[in-house]
Amino acid sequence: MSVDAAARREELVALYKEVSKCTRCPLHETRTKAVFGAGNADADLMFVGEAPGAEEDRQGLPFVGRAGQLLNELLVEIGLSREDVFICNVLKSRPPDNRDPQPAEIAACEPYLWDQVRLIQPRVVCTLGNFATKLLTGNPTGITRVRGVPQTHELGGRTVYLLPLFHPAAALRTPAVKEQLRGDFATIPALLQQALPEPMPSAEEISRELEEEGDSTPPPPSDQLGFFGDPS
Ligand code: URA
Repeated sequence: MSVDAAARREELVALYKEVSKCTRCPLHETRTKAVFGAGNADADLMFVGEAPGAEEDRQGLPFVGRAGQLLNELLVEIGLSREDVFICNVLKSRPPDNRDPQPAEIAACEPYLWDQVRLIQPRVVCTLGNFATKLLTGNPTGITRVRGVPQTHELGGRTVYLLPLFHPAAALRTPAVKEQLRGDFATIPALLQQALPEPMPSAEEISRELEEEGDSTPPPPSDQLGFFGDPS
């Protein structure tokens, strides 16, 4: 293990300890165990679900119920196992009766997720279901319209490929969704091999470069910077 990987791992362990006793939101009063996430601390591939369910809350581990079993099967089909990847959720504590996470809970918990991405340094982050997809893409478009098509995002200070996927629980309910999820999983190995795009330059960086080149044209507005960063 490189010095860098060892240092990141140490910081991840410290973060795990912090999350285990977290009281940032009222969910700590009703949870059994916080669910930090589990897997390879140096993984290229990370999965982000919504929140722990009843079984996850009991065991303190992510995706250990039926949805987790399906996730395991789909990983095996692409030649991977849980030891190869890191799996976590947006919320680290179970919402009572599995209700939807509330904005204040997300706001309290999301810094942990950004820290996890910063420390694990994945190349590909798969969001599982509508909830994680909308939060991580910053876009309210539903999962049915965006699933299976990789996007480029900056998460936790890193440029990563983000691949929206159906939630395995939805796949368990509907066989057609399961087949689509299986098909989308099959694209993951190639995505893992794809070179990551260069981080997009900030408006300030472009401005500085233009100045150095003696060009006084003002930089484009930051919402147009995607044209420069488009990997295609
Ligand atoms: N569903 C999730 O979103 N996360 C889990 O950990 C389990 C089920």
